[in-house]
Amino acid sequence: MSGPSDEEVEKTLTRYWGRPARAASADLDVLWSAAAGHGWFDLGGSLETALRVVRGTGRFACPLPVLDAFVAADVLAARPDLTIAMAADAVRVVLAGPAPGPPLAEAGSTATHVLELPAAAGEAVLRPIEEATPAVGLAAPPWYRIVTGEPAETVPVSEETAARLTTLRRLGLAARALGAAERAHELALAHARTRRQFGKAVGGFGAVQQRLVDCHIELAGAAALVTEAGKRHGDACGPAAARLAVAQVLRVAPRVQSAAHRTLAAAGYFEEHDAPWLFRRLHADLAWLPALRPAGDDVADLPDPLLPPAAEAARAEFRRFLASVGPVPEAIEPRPDDPATVGALAAGGWLSMGWPVHAGGRDAGPDESVAVQYEILRRRLPVTAAVAVAATVGTAIARYGTPAQRDLMLPAIARGECQVAAAYSEPDAGSDLAALATTAERDGPDWLITGRKAWCSEAHRARYLWLAARTEPSGITLFLIPADLPGIAIRPYVALSSQVACDITLEAVRVPDSARVGPAGGGWEVLTDVLGGERAVLGAMAASAQAVLDDLVAALGPRASAENVRPTLTEFAARVQAARLLAVAANMPTGSSRRAGAARLTSAAKVAASEVIEDLSLAALGLLGPSAALPGPLESALRLAPGGIIAGGTNDVHRGLIARTLGLPPA
Ligand SMILES: Cc1cc2nc3c(=O)[nH]c(=O)nc-3n(C[C@H](O)[C@H](O)[C@H](O)COP(=O)(O)OP(=O)(O)OC[C@H]3O[C@@H](n4cnc5c(N)ncnc54)[C@H](O)[C@@H]3O)c2cc1C
Repeated sequence: MSGPSDEEVEKTLTRYWGRPARAASADLDVLWSAAAGHGWFDLGGSLETALRVVRGTGRFACPLPVLDAFVAADVLAARPDLTIAMAADAVRVVLAGPAPGPPLAEAGSTATHVLELPAAAGEAVLRPIEEATPAVGLAAPPWYRIVTGEPAETVPVSEETAARLTTLRRLGLAARALGAAERAHELALAHARTRRQFGKAVGGFGAVQQRLVDCHIELAGAAALVTEAGKRHGDACGPAAARLAVAQVLRVAPRVQSAAHRTLAAAGYFEEHDAPWLFRRLHADLAWLPALRPAGDDVADLPDPLLPPAAEAARAEFRRFLASVGPVPEAIEPRPDDPATVGALAAGGWLSMGWPVHAGGRDAGPDESVAVQYEILRRRLPVTAAVAVAATVGTAIARYGTPAQRDLMLPAIARGECQVAAAYSEPDAGSDLAALATTAERDGPDWLITGRKAWCSEAHRARYLWLAARTEPSGITLFLIPADLPGIAIRPYVALSSQVACDITLEAVRVPDSARVGPAGGGWEVLTDVLGGERAVLGAMAASAQAVLDDLVAALGPRASAENVRPTLTEFAARVQAARLLAVAANMPTGSSRRAGAARLTSAAKVAASEVIEDLSLAALGLLGPSAALPGPLESALRLAPGGIIAGGTNDVHRGLIARTLGLPPA
């Protein structure tokens, strides 16, 4: 990481600015000098660093124009005397705000110069500030109306540069507003943990908790987008990444601020608290954005996220592999796997990629697995059952199976020839799997399994059942049993989505001990590991969201660019990309420091992806009318959407998991 760390930024702001509540009285002049001393105006052209610092200032409701200086250094690159003077605090530059009447500028009384930027091709003009009059309003400290002198420097600006500079300004404002929203959210969270009413912490009330968790998810997505935009500065995807980041902050930050006020209630409404000052900062910053319109089309093509090197390589290799395979069918509707496509993937070793080498895999990390699964879902390859079986059951057998089980099952799973149905849920044990009532009792060397399983996907086609049962003295044990054993009855039914799931009745089904996977009573450990495999599958759910977005844009045709449609699509694009980046963060390589909190990120990615799919398919109905209700991918997506919210743990359950990690009491 180059430039000052987040901790250093916080320390400097704490020392020279103080709390957000001091925004109206703190001394920007002193902070400006201190910041220059810490190199904040000489960040070596790293937008990623500049955005981190700017986000830090937002947390303090502080208008120090770090991004303005970053832009000025870019524009004035041919005048090293000026850029050196800026870095050394001899010249202080702010950008002129686009407003009617005399120019407006932040920090107008502390800056020495203002830089006027053209909206299109033209000239950037640097002028000394001769007079600055506060324009007291929402912003605190206030914006200033400024009177300027003769140009000190004039730089020609091309159309392309003007667009780039506008993008940078928008991103800077968004990053600062994001910082303010993040801080307001932290204050709300802390309040919810400690403020007690009706005998309990207010964070234990369902409505408060859900609001906080939703803010957490939205902020995590927005932060990921802003960071990605910083990293992509200068590459071809930079403008699209920036557009998505700004769109997300514009949608999320005001909601988070509003949510924080609801949670803080009276305590956060009066000026001795930080929240009102963060409110002013956030809304004043976002108020500039409509006047800084980006050139070009708002409907962003989603850039591929930057991935860790191994995952980047796996994604590229898989794409090459798919291109070499030639045309493959697309599963517009849920359908059984296509044997030829499964066979091709199996032959390429893609199904078993996450298994250890000794089990026939290549020990690919979660980042690689999710990158490949993303491609599979994005292209709707009819292979999802085989992939899921390999990632979950296959992984469990590779880790916990006996040598005989591994020899018997893994080659068939790796070839995609072994249909296995997961049989966890029961009529009375859905989210609460610990309540399952199916029992497995010892009977000599065997087990007798009795009970009823529900909603088991594709069990009517399965050769094996991957079944969780209760065993004595107390515990859950996992079994892999043939689906056609005497005593097993399978009844299929069709979901709203057209997926087929089954009720399974088991009456004293006799299985040998060799069907047990992992220790007797040790099923939770195995299941937790299996769910780790499912993490990659859940993480890739954003790929389905991207596919639905593409379908909607394609169905709209030229209407996608209409003034009244574009902003909606851009918002959706930002939400899809946020879910995608959360999944990338959740599946960082094993051992990476970012793996900490992976479970929380997975939950956030799952909730974000499944809910954007639902909203997208509902929007399709609204935008397209009856044609979205005719057979096709959008109609199918609409019917699939509720299932996505339920399967893999309901979104409510995932929200609860996030709440626990945030230190909120059970609702
Ligand atoms: C398409 C599809 C395929 C499926 N495939 C399989 C499969 O192959 N194998 C299998 O075993 N199961 C499968 N399931 C079942 C799935 O795992 C369960 O539906 C899921 O675990 C939720 O259980 P439930 O439906 O009984 O809901 P319940 O747990 O009864 O939940 C009812 C409501 O209460 C809420 N709720 C429950 N607990 C909490 C909590 N702690 N905090 C907050 N809210 C809570 C839920 O969010 C929901 O709104 C499938 C389901 C679907 C829809």
